[in-house]
Amino acid sequence: MPDYDYDLFVIGAGSGGTRASRVAAAHGARVAVAEEYRVGGTCVIRGCVPKKLLVYGSHFAEDLKDAKRFGWDVPDRCAFSWPTLRDNVMAEVDRINGAYTATLENNGVEIINARAVVTGPNSLRLGDGREVTAKTILVAVGAHPAIPECPGHEHGITSNEVFDLPDIPKRILIAGAGYIANEFAGIFHQFGAHVTLINRSKEILRGYDLAIRDRLLQISMMKGLEFRFDATFRGIEKHDDGCLTVSMSGHEPITVDLVLFATGRVPNTHGLGLESAGVAINDRGAICVDADNRSTCPSIFAVGDVTDRIQLTPIAIREGQAFADTFFGGKPTRIDYDCVPSAVFSHPPMAGVGLTETQARQKLGTVRVYTADFRPMKNVLAGRDERALYKMVCHGETDRIVGIHMIGPDVPEMMQVAAVAVKAGLTKADFDATVALHPTMAEELVLLR
Ligand code: NDP
Repeated sequence: MPDYDYDLFVIGAGSGGTRASRVAAAHGARVAVAEEYRVGGTCVIRGCVPKKLLVYGSHFAEDLKDAKRFGWDVPDRCAFSWPTLRDNVMAEVDRINGAYTATLENNGVEIINARAVVTGPNSLRLGDGREVTAKTILVAVGAHPAIPECPGHEHGITSNEVFDLPDIPKRILIAGAGYIANEFAGIFHQFGAHVTLINRSKEILRGYDLAIRDRLLQISMMKGLEFRFDATFRGIEKHDDGCLTVSMSGHEPITVDLVLFATGRVPNTHGLGLESAGVAINDRGAICVDADNRSTCPSIFAVGDVTDRIQLTPIAIREGQAFADTFFGGKPTRIDYDCVPSAVFSHPPMAGVGLTETQARQKLGTVRVYTADFRPMKNVLAGRDERALYKMVCHGETDRIVGIHMIGPDVPEMMQVAAVAVKAGLTKADFDATVALHPTMAEELVLLR
C-alpha cells in the first residue's frame, strides 16, 4: 500500500506545472495538479499567447498604411473593431486551455480545480477542505503583477485585466518601462490611443543592450509615444466622468482614461502555507531553490516564476521537465541558464542573447563590437523612416561571439537561430564564412562591420 495519496502533487497548472505533471505521469507517477483559475497559467491565459495575438492584430495599423505604397487601394481610415479582435483572441485562449487540459487528462494526471495550500512537508489542504498527502510537492504557482502602493491604485489595471477591456481608451498611462509596458505601449498606440509611459528611473528595458533600447526609445517617440522619466507614482484621483488624474514626482499631473501598472511581477507565495513545511522565501517573496529545484524542505520543490530565476515561459517549461526527469524518470537533468535568448514584442520588436556590450566590457576587458544600422528595404519603399540595428559583441582575444542584440522587423524570429550560434561558441569568422541569403534582413548578420 502506498504511504501517500499521490507520488507528486503539483500546485499550479501553468507552463512549469503542466510540463512537470505530464512528464512525471508519463514516467509512471501518480500525479495530481491543483489549479485555482484556468489550466495554462499566465502564458496561455493572460500573458505571452494573447499578448502576441494582440501584437499581430495591432501591426495591421502600420501594414495597412504601408500597403498603399505597395499599390493597394486602402481607405485613409480603416475601421478597427476591438471587440472582434478581443473575442477572437479569447476564443483561441479557450482552445489552447482545452488542449492543455486534454493533454494532462490523456497522461492520467488528476486535475483538481481548486486552490491548494501546503500544511506540512507532505500534506496539503484543498479549497473544499479536503486534506491530501503526497510524497513530493511541486510549487509552480507563478507570479502576479506588482501594484505600487499609492492612493487610488485601485483605479488602475494590470496585464491581467487588459484582455477584457470593453473598448480601447483614448488616453492611456502605463507605469513602468519594462517588457509589459513597452509591449502594450506599442499595441495601444497602434490601436489609436495616446500612450504615456512613466518610469521611476531614466531607463527603459534595463538589462537590454543600451544602443538597442535607445533605438526603441527614439522610434517610439517618433511614432508619438510620450515618456516621462525619474517619475515616481504618487497617486490616482478618479473624477465623476471616469477620467483619472495621475500625480507623480518631478512632473505635472496627467489626466487619462486608463492606467496600466506594468511594474514587475511578484511570486505568488503569500498564503500558500509554505512556512508550515519550513520552505525558505527570499526578500522578494520567491521560493529559494537549489540547482535541482529543491526548496529548503526536502520534499517540496518549485519551478517557474515563483522562484527567483528567469521569469520566462520556456525556462519554467525546462525546469518542470528537468524536475520530472530527475525525480520520476531516473534521468538527472539540470538547466543551463547561460545564453537564454529573449525578446520584447514592441513596435518594432527587439531581441537579445548573451552579454550586452557593457556587460562584456566589464567581464572580458577587451571586446570587439560589429554593427549593422540599416533601413529595411520594405521600410524604404513604404516611406517609413525606421532603421534596424544589429549588434554582435565578440571576445577581443578569441573572436568568440558573446552576445547578439537586434531591433527591427521580425528580429525575434532570427534571434532563435542566432542564439544557437552564440550557445555553440561560434566566432565572427564563422558568420563571415557563411554566404549571405539575399535579399533578407537576416543577411545583415553575416555582413556585420
Ligand atoms: P519588468 O521587470 O520588465 O519591468 C518593470 C518596470 O517597472 C521597470 O521599468 C522598473 O523600473 C519598474 N518598476 C519596478 N518596480 C517598481 C516600483 N516599485 N515602482 C515603480 N516602478 C517600478 O517587469 P514587467 O512587469 O514588464 O514584466 C514582468 C516580467 O514578465 C518580466 O521581467 C519578464 O520576465 C516577463 N515578461 C516577458 C515577456 C517576454 O518575454 N516578451 C513579456 C512580458 C513579461 P526600473 O527598471 O527603472 O527599475
